[in-house]
This record gives sequence, C-alpha cells and structure tokens, in this order.
Amino acid sequence: MNRSMTVLAAALGLVLAAGTAAVPAAAATTAQGYTPAAGIAAKSSEDANNKAFYEAVMKSARAKQAANPYLLAVTVTYDASQAPTFRTVISQSAQIWNSSVANVQLRSGTNADFRYYEGNDSRGSYASTDGHGGGYIFLDYAQNRQYSSLRVVAHETGHVLGLPDHYSGPCSELMSGGGPGTSCTNPNPNTTERSRVNSLWLYGLAVAG
Ligand SMILES: [Zn+2]
Repeated sequence: MNRSMTVLAAALGLVLAAGTAAVPAAAATTAQGYTPAAGIAAKSSEDANNKAFYEAVMKSARAKQAANPYLLAVTVTYDASQAPTFRTVISQSAQIWNSSVANVQLRSGTNADFRYYEGNDSRGSYASTDGHGGGYIFLDYAQNRQYSSLRVVAHETGHVLGLPDHYSGPCSELMSGGGPGTSCTNPNPNTTERSRVNSLWLYGLAVAG
C-alpha cells in the first residue's frame, strides 16, 4: 500500500490492516528524501519539516534525559520492527552514527522516539513528521536496491539527527544522498557533518540543563 492509498483509506474511514507498510496516515507532511525526486515538497518546505522532525525527536529525547541527568549523551530510541527487511542495515547505520558522534546516541528499544517503516513509494525514501512529537523514516524497496541501502538508511537517520539535504555535495558527504549517483556507497558522515550533529545536540543538552 502506498501513501496515497493510505491517506485515501483513512479519509474513507477504513480500518487498515497492520503490517503492510503501516505508515501513520496522520503524518501527511513530507520531510527530506534521498534524491531530489519529483513529488517531494519544495526545498524550503523540506527544511522546515526536517527541522520540525529533529526538534520533535530532541524534545522527546530530552524528556528522557531530564529523568536521568547524569547521562553524558542524549539517547534517541528507535523502533525498527516495522522495517524487518532492513533490520541489519538499520543496526549498522546506528553503529556508524554512534561511533561518529558523541553527544547523541541511537538505541533500539520500546517507547521509541521515531520509527522505521518499509514499503513502495514512487518518491523513494524519506523522513517525515506530523510536527507534534511523532516522526518516522520510510524506506522504499526499489530505491534501496538501486542505491546503497546502508547509505540510504544512514542518510535518512541523519535527518533525524538534524542534518538537511545537500544533494550537490560529493560522495564523501552523507547528506548529498542520491546526488552523486548510484555508484556512491559511502555510509559515513564527513567531519563537517559530525561536527554539526555534535553541536546541535550539545545545544540541546545545554537547554535541557
Ligand atoms: Zn535526505
């Protein structure tokens, strides 16, 4: 089931069966994708949605931080149960980010700050939010076969951590996404991207403290 069908079904008041790319129908706003594909909202809108997603995730993570002020890094919890095809890749992506940045760490678990979903969408993979504390990453099957799946997942996860798209960048830059083409398989954020995430989450900690 694609997103338009999900929205249509929701509009008709149909009860959706769980399991088949059960992307939340309420999250109708689209944030950032992996490629500058047709159908994805304008860049400024993408940036705004991405910022809202990042802020929502940080708000949730900071609430947990407040309950345990002795933590040195903010922990963002994710749920990959709705993207079973990508379980291993999602775990590898988390390891990459956890070894790349110090001020925020990703953990798999319940009471998740965000979720991964999988399915078919002509717009490819993207990160989205409803702007009210919820968000998810959608992983498109076709795009994850066409491009390096680990790079796609690490890129979308980068949006959760606050990074915007920069499609014109080189392959060494994770947030250039599909810009450098299908031959680019680099799944690692570069030094600038690591520093930016560390700064963003250090600021979050400062506010929380
Ligand atoms: Zn992107």
